[in-house]
Amino acid sequence: MVSRVIPVEPFDLVIFGATGDLARRKILPGLFHRFTVGQMPDTARIIGAARSDMDQATFRAQVRDSLAQFAPQAMEQADMVARFLDRIAYVRVDATGPEGWTALRETLRDDAVRAFYLSVAPALFGAIAANLHEHGIATPDSRIVVEKPFGHDLDSARALNADLRQSFDERQIYRIDHYLGKETVQNLMALRFANSLWEPLWNATHIDHVQITVAESLGVEGRGEYYDRFGAMRDMVQNHLMQLLCLTAMEPPSKFTPNAVRDEKVKVIEALEPVAQADIVRGQYRARGGEGSYRDDAGDPESQTESFVAMKVNIGNWRWAGTPFYLRTGKKLRGRRSEIAMIFRDPPHMIFPKTEGHHGNALIIRLQPDEGITLSNTIKEPGPGGFRLAEVTLDMTFADALDQQSDPQDAYERLIMDVIRGDQTLFMRGDEVEAAWAWADPIIAGWEEAATPPKGYDAGSSGPEDALMLLHRDGRRWREIT
Ligand code: NAP
Repeated sequence: MVSRVIPVEPFDLVIFGATGDLARRKILPGLFHRFTVGQMPDTARIIGAARSDMDQATFRAQVRDSLAQFAPQAMEQADMVARFLDRIAYVRVDATGPEGWTALRETLRDDAVRAFYLSVAPALFGAIAANLHEHGIATPDSRIVVEKPFGHDLDSARALNADLRQSFDERQIYRIDHYLGKETVQNLMALRFANSLWEPLWNATHIDHVQITVAESLGVEGRGEYYDRFGAMRDMVQNHLMQLLCLTAMEPPSKFTPNAVRDEKVKVIEALEPVAQADIVRGQYRARGGEGSYRDDAGDPESQTESFVAMKVNIGNWRWAGTPFYLRTGKKLRGRRSEIAMIFRDPPHMIFPKTEGHHGNALIIRLQPDEGITLSNTIKEPGPGGFRLAEVTLDMTFADALDQQSDPQDAYERLIMDVIRGDQTLFMRGDEVEAAWAWADPIIAGWEEAATPPKGYDAGSSGPEDALMLLHRDGRRWREIT
């Protein structure tokens, strides 16, 4: 199945921070890919903006280098690269100073969708938004895209929202959480709301518990200073895992519209019960086999920041009361694996005398690697010699089930095209981000007050022992991180 590509309207996309890491690694290669598949019209333009002093040709050469480094297959399409680079311009702008704004205004067209991607530090969001407004660059239909982190607590998130809303309406603001751009995350909505099979089972009556795991095998990799100020709770749980939890737990929206979907997600966050400190495990990786410890990587021998969090979360509503959601994320773990596992309850009465081969049903929604969905079932082990049970899985790896050549669209490029289309469904609304911080803040305050150091775990393991105990004490166990 070849995906249908519907070209978007002509647009002028201004990337603030166009010389930075994110723009070079994700945004520009993603846009190039959209160009090659025909979604980005020939009339679209990308305008890089940063403080560095350079001319158009130098910036285009930088963009070409980024493509060579982060989308090497691009170089096989020299003609496409040349046509793409023709769409690129550069304006020198200082977010906090007066230079560049008039030139930027004169570069933009009146008859194209206008979008501003703020791939810069959040401290610059307010100044850029205000300058766009004051210099008459933002129009009532312009869109502004902001990167994570969106605050580090409720107060800072509120301040960022207030800054942005001084110059832009909520319908113009696109807060990116790139997890929402992942194919499987969107498929979770299709699985739940385009099939009648699952909805009757999608509740506490049938689901024993849910495990949401985002395991990374890498450490903080040069982001130590940034990460050490955030830790796994702020960097991953408050945003990415929270989004996965919301999409898993939310009620069916009445329509597939941005606000109908986001209303339901906010209701989930508001139904989260406070998490007891006894239901949280924080961990920090130790040095092992020549690899440095978290403290080495963070450059702080005293750091108390967590590189791992596991917690048990209860949702206080009719659908989920009695079905805990266990969340787990960490760095330097045994494997790189992100999944949502719906673990079904056992049959109420077992008629088979030998049950050792019995496995409960589990629906696994895999985000990475090998995006897809697996359903494990218990069957009779084939062959004579008695009635023994065994587990088989129904496996739908998307790449196999659809088409090997299907478009491996990266989350960023999908989300940027949604911005141009004006579709906010996969972006976080201001109240949603604030609700997530309102839930996370007391958890963080609780462990800061207790001043309990994070538990050590070996790099390459499944995390601290205490995280295993979190489920063992409830008679459950984590799925393996492989
Ligand atoms: P970066 O590599 O440090 O790049 C920052 C960019 O901002 C540069 O292009 C810089 O160019 C520009 N800049 C700095 N001060 C400026 C000013 N006063 N006016 C105009 N431009 C200015 O940062 P990054 O890693 O790309 O991250 C950008 C944003 O994305 C951050 O909010 C980050 O948290 C977020 N993010 C990054 C990643 C990632 O993988 N890198 C992932 C998720 C989120 P000049 O110095 O030339 O001005």
